[in-house]
Amino acid sequence: MDIKANLEAVKKTFINPDCLLVAVSKTKPLSDLKDAYRWGVRDFGENKVQEIQAKQPEMPDDTHWHMIGHLQSNKVKYIAPFVHLIHGVDSFKLLKEINKQGKKINRVIPVLLQIHIAEEESKFGFDTEELQEMFQDPGFMTLTHVSIQGLMGMATFTEDEDQVRKEFRSLKNLFESLKKETLPAFVQMKELSMGMSGDYLIAQEEGSTMVRVGSAIFGSRG
Ligand SMILES: *Cc1c(COP(=O)(O)O)cnc(C)c1O
Repeated sequence: MDIKANLEAVKKTFINPDCLLVAVSKTKPLSDLKDAYRWGVRDFGENKVQEIQAKQPEMPDDTHWHMIGHLQSNKVKYIAPFVHLIHGVDSFKLLKEINKQGKKINRVIPVLLQIHIAEEESKFGFDTEELQEMFQDPGFMTLTHVSIQGLMGMATFTEDEDQVRKEFRSLKNLFESLKKETLPAFVQMKELSMGMSGDYLIAQEEGSTMVRVGSAIFGSRG
């Protein structure tokens, strides 16, 4: 796998050069991460707590670790000290646990709220009603050790580009409407994490600020 060539090929197609490329290195060996680091990658995405914990001490200190997968509340404590951004916050319960762990170590932890945009039932995330419910909860206002930086979403796994575009557009619309809402200072709509190897160009066309690209850089998994 020529990681350098793949990185260049992916970067070359970017519609928005300011969009952050998060290199999704899940299941890949450390040597692949080191290779990507050598070619300038600082942002890595992992979806398993155990794996991110194992890799983190082996990489340079300026590596940014993105937790992109579904995160269980009882595992937050293991990544709280070093995680750069948690993309998949999909419940108030999880957000409260991240806040609790941040408080313990006196660290404000940056997160994104995952929104359910896909047709598929299987994908995680808030729907807009649940989101408003959380925003209105008195407990929400009292959070002190999380910084909500934006939204994340995953489109339906389909060849139908119109469907994917429609889903990304709905996420972008929600992002823009939340920007106009009066929300606590720890909620900022700056980042929109959408797009993977198969759909990152559509995502960029629809306003993504960070894409999570794995197989197009490191090759297919398993
Ligand atoms: C695995 C994964 C990706 C990357 O998928 P590719 O198709 O390999 O680019 C992106 N986002 C999430 C949440 C993932 O779990």
